[in-house]
Amino acid sequence: MARVTPHDALADALGALGATLRHHRDLGVTELPLEGSYLLGPEETLQAQEKALQGCRRCRLCEGRTTIVFGSGNPRAEFVVIGEAPGADEDAQGLPFVGRAGQLLTRMLEARKVELSRDEAFVTNTVKCRPPSNRNPEADELAACAPFLAAQLAALQPKVILSLGSVATQSLLGTKEPIGKLRGRVHSYGSAVLIPTFHPAFLLRNPGDEYKRLAWEDLQLARREYDKRRTR
Ligand code: SF4
Repeated sequence: MARVTPHDALADALGALGATLRHHRDLGVTELPLEGSYLLGPEETLQAQEKALQGCRRCRLCEGRTTIVFGSGNPRAEFVVIGEAPGADEDAQGLPFVGRAGQLLTRMLEARKVELSRDEAFVTNTVKCRPPSNRNPEADELAACAPFLAAQLAALQPKVILSLGSVATQSLLGTKEPIGKLRGRVHSYGSAVLIPTFHPAFLLRNPGDEYKRLAWEDLQLARREYDKRRTR
């Protein structure tokens, strides 16, 4: 298991504080009252974030959505999965990865030599509202929603992030490299590591065994990193 130094812990704490303050600023908070609890755990913090996000109109994706899909899973997860955007099923149910791609994601996590359950992970997307006709989110939409993802990650403090597909991976890593070049490697992401792989929706559209084998290798890599770095 990787050793967490006091420097890492302080950097994480300051990073989380900064992300939380930016999140509140982006929601229009200009004053912080002095009463109340500032020592919320991740579960309460995520609940408060989800509540505060309701009605968000920071980007044009608000116009076509039915529901804001905040994310779901274990609030104490050290393994976080980040996809691109909600689809039709997710928009209808308000939950991430519940359609066909979501069912494949569940099977990928439960696969042999990966053996992770959805209950152990937290699953979310780079944008919280469904883009029209399932198009890719645009750069300004990703930027508008980025503070909300940053605040979620600050609350969760993951050790391993599995990013699904090129849009999420490029947005998180700030690169234009194709997913085919980014996958198969461990990338630094703050005090966590980020492992990219193909989006399950892509795997459903490309049923060739080669892509599935590569995705399975990525998931096994993520599992090994998780076993090395997890603290719970
Ligand atoms: S995608 Fe994000 S920033 Fe845009 S309206 Fe939805 S919650 Fe707000």
